[in-house]
Amino acid sequence: MTPLEHKLRDRIGRSGPIPVSEFMAMALGDPVHGYYRKSDPLGAKGDFITGPEISQVFGELIGLWCVHCWQQAGAPNPVKLVELGPGRGTLMSDALRAVTTVHAFTEACDIHLVETSPVLRRCQELALKDHRVTWHEVLEHVPAGPALIIANEFFDALPIDQYQMTEAGWRLRCVGLNPAGDRFRFVTNHKAPDKTVLPPNLDGVPVGGLFEACPAGLQIAGTLGARMADEGIAALIIDYGHARSEAGETLQAVQNHTYCDVLTNVGEADLTAHVDFAALGSRAKQTGVRIYGPVPQGTFLTELGIEARTNQLAARANKRTATLLKTGAHRLIGADSMGMLFKVMALTGDGVSNPAGFESLLHQRTE
Ligand code: SAH
Repeated sequence: MTPLEHKLRDRIGRSGPIPVSEFMAMALGDPVHGYYRKSDPLGAKGDFITGPEISQVFGELIGLWCVHCWQQAGAPNPVKLVELGPGRGTLMSDALRAVTTVHAFTEACDIHLVETSPVLRRCQELALKDHRVTWHEVLEHVPAGPALIIANEFFDALPIDQYQMTEAGWRLRCVGLNPAGDRFRFVTNHKAPDKTVLPPNLDGVPVGGLFEACPAGLQIAGTLGARMADEGIAALIIDYGHARSEAGETLQAVQNHTYCDVLTNVGEADLTAHVDFAALGSRAKQTGVRIYGPVPQGTFLTELGIEARTNQLAARANKRTATLLKTGAHRLIGADSMGMLFKVMALTGDGVSNPAGFESLLHQRTE
């Protein structure tokens, strides 16, 4: 057993099975043994790879997206440039490099990062050593004012609850122990969930079927929406997930680029779940903010010009780098890789009525 598994076993032994959200919160965020607290999980040598680590063009295009929104909103000065869960700081560093010549923007920018991992904070310090940056534990601590807020593969790491259909109806799924007390297993709790948690379209889900909800994600979507509605400018959420709330199990564990069992090697593997964009959007919409998307990541990046930028860089690069740039772009936009599964949604405040990358929605905007 890992040290975290001992800790979890003691806790479950003392007070009974814990909801999946508590299990996930401890696995990822335990102050001593949590997955994100103790090492850098990203990159080829880590457990998984993300858009900004695949190609520099990813962060560059997001930097330009920010400038475009900022200009539409009347170029407020100062403007907060905020990233939630910035990983190694690669996206922010690429974004800032791409906009260095837009002096009015870089001078207006006040950079804030929301990050709980001390190891990744050190990576971010290094990547952004030429910039003045303020770190926060939670979004609510970022000072008020107009803001551009980016969250790439942040929501998928937030703890989810799982509900399971039983003979007696929906029940909260928990993590308990087997009779020998040496392995974790899923059990269902006797309590029925609050009706507001379940979407209306779950009729007909058979016994054993699951529904996942992410209360932490909904809370952050509400905060982002309120912030955009009150103070402007725009928030961009990029993640893998589904555009409609639906039944199904998506919680997964990945270690060393390979899927593994969620209940073993706890604290050593990354745990994520598909992001329910419909749920985030409808929570944010309650604040009166404008919502665009989600659109597939492939559509978004293509509209922002990923191919032209990649070709431009490749033309100046050596053969190996040119190939890496082109395969990277394909990975980001290809329907067979991240282009369809990953989605992009924007929340915008006053003045930003035409964020780049969402042109495909012109006739189906959901406001
Ligand atoms: N955005 C980066 C990293 C994605 S991994 C990229 O695209 O490469 C998830 C990131 O979210 C990590 O930086 C992790 O430490 C951070 N994170 C996870 N849970 C968090 C939480 N509750 N609050 C703030 N940051 C969190």
